[in-house]
Amino acid sequence: MTSAKLRLLIADDDDGDRRHLRRLIRGCGLLCEIDEALDLAEAEAACEARAYDCAIIDYRMPGGNGLKGIVAIRERHPLLPIVMVTGQGDELIASEAIKLGAADYVPKSQLSEGYIAHVIKSALRKAELERIVTDQREELERFGHVLAHDLKTPIHQIRYLVEFIERDLEEGNREQLRTNRDRLLATARRMEDLINTLQSYSMTEKPIEVSVISLDGAVEGCLSNLASEISARGATVSCDPLPLVRGNLSLLTQLFQNLVGNGLKYCGSASPEVLISAQSDGPEVTVSVSDNGIGVPPPEMQRIFQPFQRLHRQAEIEGTGLGLAICRKIVERHGGRIWCEARPSGGSIFRFTLNAA
Ligand code: ADP
Repeated sequence: MTSAKLRLLIADDDDGDRRHLRRLIRGCGLLCEIDEALDLAEAEAACEARAYDCAIIDYRMPGGNGLKGIVAIRERHPLLPIVMVTGQGDELIASEAIKLGAADYVPKSQLSEGYIAHVIKSALRKAELERIVTDQREELERFGHVLAHDLKTPIHQIRYLVEFIERDLEEGNREQLRTNRDRLLATARRMEDLINTLQSYSMTEKPIEVSVISLDGAVEGCLSNLASEISARGATVSCDPLPLVRGNLSLLTQLFQNLVGNGLKYCGSASPEVLISAQSDGPEVTVSVSDNGIGVPPPEMQRIFQPFQRLHRQAEIEGTGLGLAICRKIVERHGGRIWCEARPSGGSIFRFTLNAA
């Protein structure tokens, strides 16, 4: 829940009831700004004009009953939590309000400072959960859509290549046959890479176990996994002494591996130089992985952390477009943030925060 001032809307045509509710909310210790609406039309207009954290609507209102208001407001603002205030014996109305999407209801007879604080806080918590579920559903839809496309592409390619190979066999063209066989193997390998990467992307959804670990250990694991690539590219990877953090060793090893791997891959013609360093600031550690490569254009610096967002075509530089999305998931699982900056002397710096040990 946010520590900033809450923005609340009270919709009630009765002056006395509005004042009473306002007094209770003020008295219950919630830091908030309160607007008022005297009928449903005013409540709807207020929600259009301002983003509220919660609306408290009386059931009996001029311009229709509060249920009508819930439907109209939820249609335009599906994530705004609405609390319905009902009269004595209005249990049926209360259950109808919940069915229509109200976060909660409160009978007028039970209004007290403690009760209203509890109802508002639980409505805010519900709204927060609803927002998380909506975000996850949207991400899943996006993910499924792109995934279907990215898996279909190599499958189509494999089908065409098999047809070419059949033709090469009929014509007895051994040289062309070898070329198409190599293409087929490369396509199958890319598909395997994509599936492996997808597997690690979905693994990062699971709850993680954290302990006090040495970041140096995570970097060592990463460098050992990338050893042949580092030597093949004639790259230099240097690392300043790193602090202890609270984290998961295998996920942080993968995080370094993706960032250092990208530093090697997106190097342009320069021989890659990657530097890993960290800065401690109270409870937070900021780790930086910088490279002397081709850099990321500033308008793309956020998009590249989304699944399947690539700035290069497959023919230029191979990849799945999931490496940085995995990095973001790993960092967020650790309660941190990750972002990209331009390195002043050319190249990029990827920074992320972790909790200090
Ligand atoms: P992949 O490397 O598989 O394409 P990533 O998610 O790791 O997927 O990266 C997304 C995109 O961000 C890459 O396609 C590339 O265009 C860009 N990118 C990532 N790291 C770097 C880097 N160190 N330097 C320049 N561009 C980068």
